[in-house]
Amino acid sequence: MRLFLILAVAFGLSGCMEVPAGAEKPAPGEPAQEKAPVKPTRQAALMFVSVAKAIEPVAEAQCRELSPKTNCDFKIVIDDKDGGEANAHQFLTRSGRPILLFNYALINDARNADELAFVMGHEAAHHIAGHLAMQEINARQGAEVLAQMASVNGANSREIRDARKLGAALGALRYSKDFELEADELGTVISLRAGFNPVIGARFFGRIADPGDKMLGTHPPNSQRIALVRRTVRQYRQVPGE
Ligand SMILES: [Zn+2]
Repeated sequence: MRLFLILAVAFGLSGCMEVPAGAEKPAPGEPAQEKAPVKPTRQAALMFVSVAKAIEPVAEAQCRELSPKTNCDFKIVIDDKDGGEANAHQFLTRSGRPILLFNYALINDARNADELAFVMGHEAAHHIAGHLAMQEINARQGAEVLAQMASVNGANSREIRDARKLGAALGALRYSKDFELEADELGTVISLRAGFNPVIGARFFGRIADPGDKMLGTHPPNSQRIALVRRTVRQYRQVPGE
């Protein structure tokens, strides 16, 4: 079940937007994984705070409008422990409060406020659309299906356990690309309503390694995401009163 190990490492349940660190190299003799987080400049940190202040109330209003039964009390947090590549993701606290977490590298990589706003809108949209819960259901169903298949085929308990884990990883991938596109669309609206330009914001995708259209990929091709952002902006501007 080596495939499972690769899949499990590649696709976390809550992981979302990851950007390669680009040309940045670790210090001589220092492994890349153990790099200390590079603190953002004061200017970058101030930009992050001002974007968060603008996005948070708009995301909360959008959440209350579209998902009135959801906890819409977003908390936007910087992860000062994560020294890895640029990353943002969304998760819930035990009490169900939605947290949007951004590491230093993402803040350093953003070239302008529009890019930061777009990523924040995108992460908030995952929560508003209930993607994490749906992904967990898909993972549970995938685990059951593969465990049953293994059991029917006479697998031993260890093999059944492995099959369950593989099934969970594959299940979590179900609709993954659709979830990303949905989050891009709603993220575009949040970003627009907060006064940012999502077309400029989506240029961020141009710097992400294009995942292409891989069958087991978690994210859609960049060109598809950018086209969707442009289309959503056009539609939004055509709605009277917006
Ligand atoms: Zn996402």
